[in-house]
Amino acid sequence: MGEFDKVISDLIDNESFFRRECPACFKNFKFEIGEDKTYNLEYMLRNYLIDRNKKGNINYNCPYCGQVADDFYWWTDEQADYLTGIIDYLIAEIINEKYLNESKEEKLESNYPKMEPEIFNPFKIVDLECCDENLKVLKVAEEINCCFCGSDHKLEH
Ligand SMILES: [Zn+2]
Ligand SMILES: [Zn+2]
Repeated sequence: MGEFDKVISDLIDNESFFRRECPACFKNFKFEIGEDKTYNLEYMLRNYLIDRNKKGNINYNCPYCGQVADDFYWWTDEQADYLTGIIDYLIAEIINEKYLNESKEEKLESNYPKMEPEIFNPFKIVDLECCDENLKVLKVAEEINCCFCGSDHKLEH
């Protein structure tokens, strides 16, 4: 078990897709997460939670507007709140364990954050043959760029 397994399972949907939000057009899409997939969520979480000053160094294209930006810029507000909750939780746990365990001081409240399950599903799955990846994009999208290589795809309805 990896150290981020619980976090990863909270962040992906029931088909193992992970939501991203474009920093330019704010539209959402989802990467498929798997052991052999290009998109490595564990690596990205490490960047976000641990190496906060070191930006992620993999660039992606927005499927809708073509904006290119590295990993660090695609978190939704909801995901960012959840990850801030994880950091608060871990800090409280460490303080309770290390400093307050033996003392008579009241322990800090430590609640594991909750990621609300998604109810609305506006996505369809697209098979990106160019890069051998699956992507979930908005059902209304008619033409997209591959997130990985930037090539154009016309979508059938
Ligand atoms: Zn965009
Ligand atoms: Zn591609």
